[in-house]
Parts: sequence; C-alpha cells; structure tokens
Amino acid sequence: MNSKEFRKAGKDVIDWIADYYEKISEFPVMSQVKANEIRDDLPNDIPIEGESFECIMKDLEDIILPGISHWQSPNFYGFFPANASGPAILGDLLSSGFGINGMIWSSSPSCTELETHMMDWLVTMLDLPKHFHSSSSGGGVIQDSASSATLCALLAGREKITNGLSNIKGVRENLIVYSSNQSHSSIEKAVKIAGLGIENLRIIDVNDSFSMKIEHLENTIKDDLKNGGIPCFLVATSGTTSSTAFDPLVEIGEICIKYNIWLHVDAAMAGTAALCEEFRWINEGLNNADSYCFNPHKWMLTNFDCDAFFIKDRKALTETLSIQPEYLKNSLSESDTVIDYKDWQIPLGRRFRSLKLWFVLRYYGIEGLKAHIRRGVKLSQLFQKLVLSDNRFELMAPSPLNLVCFRMKGSDEINESLINKLNMTGDMFLTHTRLNDKYTLRFCIGSPLTKRHHVENSWYKIAQAANEFV
Ligand code: PLP
Repeated sequence: MNSKEFRKAGKDVIDWIADYYEKISEFPVMSQVKANEIRDDLPNDIPIEGESFECIMKDLEDIILPGISHWQSPNFYGFFPANASGPAILGDLLSSGFGINGMIWSSSPSCTELETHMMDWLVTMLDLPKHFHSSSSGGGVIQDSASSATLCALLAGREKITNGLSNIKGVRENLIVYSSNQSHSSIEKAVKIAGLGIENLRIIDVNDSFSMKIEHLENTIKDDLKNGGIPCFLVATSGTTSSTAFDPLVEIGEICIKYNIWLHVDAAMAGTAALCEEFRWINEGLNNADSYCFNPHKWMLTNFDCDAFFIKDRKALTETLSIQPEYLKNSLSESDTVIDYKDWQIPLGRRFRSLKLWFVLRYYGIEGLKAHIRRGVKLSQLFQKLVLSDNRFELMAPSPLNLVCFRMKGSDEINESLINKLNMTGDMFLTHTRLNDKYTLRFCIGSPLTKRHHVENSWYKIAQAANEFV
C-alpha cells in the first residue's frame, strides 16, 4: 500500500469509525449471530491476488459487523466497561503507525520514557503511595491486562520469599497464596501458571459486604504455619468483579507485614475512581502494598489493552523476569541508567501503549476524567433509586461506585429468564453473578455515551419485562 492509497483508505476508515459511533445505539447491543455464522460467511478461498480496500471494507460491514457486540454502546451494562475514546483510538493508531517494538530502551527510547512518565503521572493523579513512583525504589509499567500484572507480582513474590531459588526443585512446594472467594479468577490462573499447586491457594471467606474476613485470614495463616506452609502472597481486591466490594486493606496490610507476605492489590476497574477526591478512600491502606494494578482500559477512557502495574521494589520484579541474551546486550542497559521494560513483563516484545494513555490524559485532563467518573457514579445512584422504587426488586450488595447488583424477589429461574429476555431484545446488555447464593443481575455504568435517558429507558424496559414474571 503506497502512501497515496494509505492516505485515502485511512481517511475512509476514520470516517467509518466516526459514523459507527454516531449510530452505535441503533445496533443490538450484543451480537445476535449464532455460533459459526460468521465463519460460514467467510470465504474458504485465501486471496491469491490482493483485493481492493473497498472490497475489504464491504466485507467488514457485511460479515464482521453483525458479529460485533457493541461494548461502547450507551446501553452496554455488562461485565465491567472497556472504555474507548477518540484520543485513545488515535493514539493507538499512531502507535501502529510507528510500528515499533519497545522491548529495551534503545529499541525506541520514547516508548520507554513516555511510559515511565505516564506511570508517574498516574501515581500523582490517583494519589498512590510514593513508593510506586520511579523516583523511589519502585515504579510502574503498562501490562496488557490485570491478569498479567497479578502473575508478574506473584512471580516476584515467589522469588522474594525463596531468595530467588524457586526454580530449584522442591523449593516452591509449600508456598501459600491467599485471596477471598470474591477475588478474580485470574488469581487462580496465576497460581497455576506459577506452579505453586492449586492446593496451596487459600480461599478466604467474606463478610456480609463481600469483603475479606480478617479473622478467617489470620486463622488460616496460623494453621498453614503450623502445618509447615510458607505464607507467600496475598491478593486483596479493591472493587471485586461480582459486586465492587473492597477488602479491608489497612488490616490486611498489617497482617501481611506481621507474617512477611507479599501484598498485591487488584483494583482493575475501581482504581480509576481515586481520581476524584471523594473516592480516594479506596486507596486507604495501599501504603502497605508491595504491588498494585488497575486498568485504564476499563474506566479511564483508554482503549484496551492498558493495565497500569506498580511495584514497590522494582528490583524484585526485574531480578525475577530479567534474562540477558547476547543479542540484546548493550552498554546503556548494563550501566543501569535506563529502564528495559522487557524485564518487567512476561513477553519480550511490547507495544507503544503509553501513547494512547498520554493522548487521553492530555485531551481530557484530570478534570475531564473526573467528570467521566462522577457521571457514571451518579447514574448508577439513579439506577439504584429506580430499583428501590419498585418493591418487586431488591438490591443485593452495596453500590459504592458504578455497579448495581439487584434481582427480582423470587427464584433464580425468574431472574435468569428476565436477563435472557432483556438481552435478547438487543436493547441493552446486562450480565449476572451469584451473591449469597442467589442469581443476581449486574448493571454497570461506564460508557461515556450513557446518559440519564438511557438509564431511565433501560429501567423502564426492565420493569416492563418483569411484569411477565410476577
Ligand atoms: N481483576 C478484577 C477485579 C477484574 O474485575 C478483572 C476483569 O474484569 C480482572 C482482574 C481481569 O482483568 P484483565 O482482563 O485486565 O485481565
């Protein structure tokens, strides 16, 4: 593709995306296609000769678009949000345009230095502990996902407790990991990948608000010590996936210090809320965390993928993940004057993700981002009020931020039928969870496109649909 063709096609694609956003609420929120329908429409024949860009775009519209679920729709309330925004899309486009691999400083200095700078900006903007700032012994790095951040933290914690010997046979056998029964599934996955043995993952009970029970935690640790276990790593969650519950970080931090346990805090979705002074309470106790992560790609208007991962002692991470093959050796890296982010993550290669974050932070500014968070919280408070105004429904958990967990009073089957019915209309999309062993609907507001009338209309439709089940 020469630059003339690229210019034309590129402008068409930008127009296409702008048109897509203008009409996004006209699409059924979740794709209505059946399994294999998209593949059945794709030709088996691989093009021998290249095709025109117009022809490719036509198939994008005819074949691919019907199989897209519209995560950016104002009526998307499922899972947690995966925010996209104009500046982030354009930043990512430029990142693709540069086409660089930022594995080591010298492979593209801007990639490394902008990333370090953005991570430091986040420390300041979110009022995170100073030990996560690059001017301290720690620092931040962008990972693809919270799952990768947790895995990296666990690997560093594993090496720390075994003095870097955990790859020697038998050494990591009795290392114990703790998290609550509300923690994200990525913790179980990380334990499996780290080879600690799933039987060494302790699932701690939660209280009525779905936060980790401290007494159960401490008793479990004591039992482990009695039985020859080595408490190693704990994941506390700030904003659980099921209900945005917050584990008591202050008490957990004290226990981790007492028993020499690495404390990792997972704030994948909720972490962004700390932009706003009134939600800064979510950081209370974070000063005892060894590592922390949250996803700007969830609620900070930065397109997937972008997880911000911070560590108190960067050496613990780099000593765990650094491998120095001959072909990457260079004097600057060896002199320790630059950061090589390859040593802060699992893969070697890495994208220029900080560019989209930079664009977002500059375009919206702190005030713009705060307004986005406050709007989401306010709309979820409105939704809560609407639920409470209808005595056929009940709330299932506190809603400190942008997620409302609710259900119809009645059986699980009724609630499952209700959500299926709502999702099948294509008018909205909700997901579910189980809280106190009851099937529960989750209504999470995070899209910058969601306005008051979307929430009111969606509630009206939910209440109408409920008539069928009374
Ligand atoms: N942790 C929590 C609390 C989450 O809610 C999620 C996803 O929703 C994750 C971790 C995993 O996020 P990622 O997809 O970035 O791995």
